[in-house]
Amino acid sequence: MIPNNSYITVVGSIAYDDVITTEGSKNNLFGGSATYFSISASNFSDVSIVGTVGKDFRESDINLLKSKNIDTSNIKKNNSGNTFRWKGDYKSNPEEPETIYTSLGVFEEFSPKLNETQLNSTHTFLANISPDIQLELAQSLENKNVLVGLDTMNHWILEKKETLVKVIKKINVIFINKTEASLISENSDIDIAAKYLLEYGPDLCIIKDGKIGSYMYTKDEEMFFCPTYNIDRLIDPTGAGDSFAGGFFGYLSNIINPKKEDFQEAMIYGSTIASFTIEGFGIENLFKVDKEKINYRFKKIKSKVNLEQI
Ligand code: AMP
Repeated sequence: MIPNNSYITVVGSIAYDDVITTEGSKNNLFGGSATYFSISASNFSDVSIVGTVGKDFRESDINLLKSKNIDTSNIKKNNSGNTFRWKGDYKSNPEEPETIYTSLGVFEEFSPKLNETQLNSTHTFLANISPDIQLELAQSLENKNVLVGLDTMNHWILEKKETLVKVIKKINVIFINKTEASLISENSDIDIAAKYLLEYGPDLCIIKDGKIGSYMYTKDEEMFFCPTYNIDRLIDPTGAGDSFAGGFFGYLSNIINPKKEDFQEAMIYGSTIASFTIEGFGIENLFKVDKEKINYRFKKIKSKVNLEQI
C-alpha cells in the first residue's frame, strides 16, 4: 500500500569537497552525493538523510539542510574521525573529474540504520557511497518502497564490482554516466551497456552523457532522450548527477502509479535541477532555486524534447 505522504530517504556521502575547475579552485565546500540529492529533491518532496559526519563537521551545514526542511535526525556525528573528503580536478575535462583523493573518514566504519520515518518512506535513493553501505541499506528496506534508485561511480566499479552487482539486483532505477556504464559493462556502446545493466533486474537504466543529455532505457527496449538546458557559464560540475537524480526522484515521489510520460517528465526535472547546480561552486546556486525558476527551465527543455522526438 502506498502511504498517504510521499517521503524520500537517501543514503550517501555527506562531504567536504575541494574542487578545481577552469573557473577557479575552492576548498571545504559542503557537498557529498546525499547532500546534493536531498537539496534537489526537497523542491518537490519531504526528504530524510541517512549518513555520518565527523568531528570537523560545521553545525551551520546541518542548518542549511534543515532550512530546506530536510530531516537530518539520522545523520550520525562520530567524533572519532573526520567527515568524508573528496578532491576533484575538472580542468582537463568538465565531465570527468580527476580524483586527487578520496578520504572516507567516518564512512569507513558506518553502518546505516533506518529510523521509524525512514522505514515508512515510499522512495529510497542509494546515492553514491560504498556498495557495502548501499547493500546494507537495501537489505533493511521493508518492501513498502515504490521506487528504489541507485547511483555509483568509477571508484566503486573498480574496487567493489561484486557487491555493486548485488545492489543492482535489488533496485528499480540505476543512474550512471556514460564512462561508468562502459566500465561496468566492458562495452563502449551505451545501448549494449544499458541492456547489460537491465539484465540484472532494474526496470530503468538512466545513462547520463554530460552536456549532451541523458538517456532512459526500459526493460522493453524503449529509449527516451532528454536534452540539457543551455546555461551561460559552467562554473563547477560537482553534484550534477546527484541533482539530476534528486529532481527525478522528487518529481516522481508525488505520483501514484507513474506512467511512461511521468518518467519522461521526471527526466526533464532532473535535467532542469542539474542545470542550476553547475552554475555555481558547490551547492551555492542549487540552494537558491525556487519553483518559478524550475518551471521556466523545465518548459524550455520540454520544448526541445518535443522537437527532437517528433
Ligand atoms: P556528482 O554528482 O557525481 O558530481 O557527485 C559529486 C559528489 O560526489 C561530491 O560532492 C563528492 O563529495 C562525492 N563523491 C566523490 N567521490 C565519491 C565516492 N567515492 N563515494 C561517494 N561520494 C563521492
